[in-house]
Amino acid sequence: MFRALVLDQTDGALTPEIRHLDQDDLPEEEVLVSVIYSSLNYKDALAVTGKGKIIRGTFPFVPGIDLVGQVEASETPAFNEGDIVILTGGGLGEKTWGGYSQRQRVPAQWLVPLPEAMTPLHAMEMGTAGFTAMLAVMTLEEHGITPDRGEVVVTGASGGVGSIALALLAPLGYTVVASSGSEDASVYLRELGAARIIHRDDLGQGPKRPLESARWAAAVDTVGGDTLAAILSTLDRHGCVAVCGNAGGHQLNTTVFPFILRGVSLLGIDSNTASYERRCEVWKRLVGDLPKPAQDLILADVIPLDQVPALSEEMLKGRIRGRIVVDVNA
Ligand code: NDP
Repeated sequence: MFRALVLDQTDGALTPEIRHLDQDDLPEEEVLVSVIYSSLNYKDALAVTGKGKIIRGTFPFVPGIDLVGQVEASETPAFNEGDIVILTGGGLGEKTWGGYSQRQRVPAQWLVPLPEAMTPLHAMEMGTAGFTAMLAVMTLEEHGITPDRGEVVVTGASGGVGSIALALLAPLGYTVVASSGSEDASVYLRELGAARIIHRDDLGQGPKRPLESARWAAAVDTVGGDTLAAILSTLDRHGCVAVCGNAGGHQLNTTVFPFILRGVSLLGIDSNTASYERRCEVWKRLVGDLPKPAQDLILADVIPLDQVPALSEEMLKGRIRGRIVVDVNA
């Protein structure tokens, strides 16, 4: 028997509880993993609290959109007993049972080996948030955004994706402006490498006109809504925004003018469906590109499974700074 955080539905209401499961309770997937850590992402918080329609499987359901663990048994030759593997995306914790369990059976297709020089803790300090931030940085690079082009703004900068994007961009030589609504985050954001900090209301009111004076060479946006609309109207010529999230809203009220008069690009980031090669490349870059002091700052807490529901509520209120790792064996 082992422990898992299980979500169940009674009379339409979602209840999370710690249950003891048997290996036979697990889904029929190819690789049995002894989970070491998972983490708490915004999507997990929406799933666990039932405030977002994240789960597409049937209840009872084990959430947790990422995990790192050791292979116990594998039906495919690609992975062997004892391998340490990472899983982010691919519908984990949404379609198939996820990382909030001491054991899990998962599809082999979405596993990548833990890179050498990365510890399991470091892997989940990054988790889906770090993976997404790195994807966003690589996407900007691939679209020709070099440090000499001007300032790059990161929104939701004190959150998981935002903190890591900021901490990745600064040592690469970019001048990063952190946009945040957290009044007490300025020391943290500066230590991560922010050259300047602006209040989230600066962008969050949306643009007054379809095109405003150019402010940014590029952006990593985790907020969406009016914030993203404001970024689009203030991107410099041939600038681009890597769109990661919707913590502030999912509607986008914009015009075609930034695109046809300034040639700007709206670049979508989807961590769920990255190819195997892309995932390996992202994890390799995460080992080398994030300085250790930033990594230590970003780790907010390591919590046991039973604290996930309470911390999920806090996360949705925007009260979590950095990353929360879930120690499923604590
Ligand atoms: P966090 O909760 O860690 O961070 C979100 C941050 O957004 C908060 O810390 C806060 O930062 C800011 N924020 C919160 N509420 C609001 C609001 N109402 N208006 C404006 N800003 C707000 O979440 P994650 O970093 O894990 O995820 C961020 C977003 O990215 C989510 O929408 C998530 O679903 C998405 N995501 C997308 C992925 C993809 O594949 N595209 C993968 C992973 C995440 P501050 O206080 O500094 O302003």
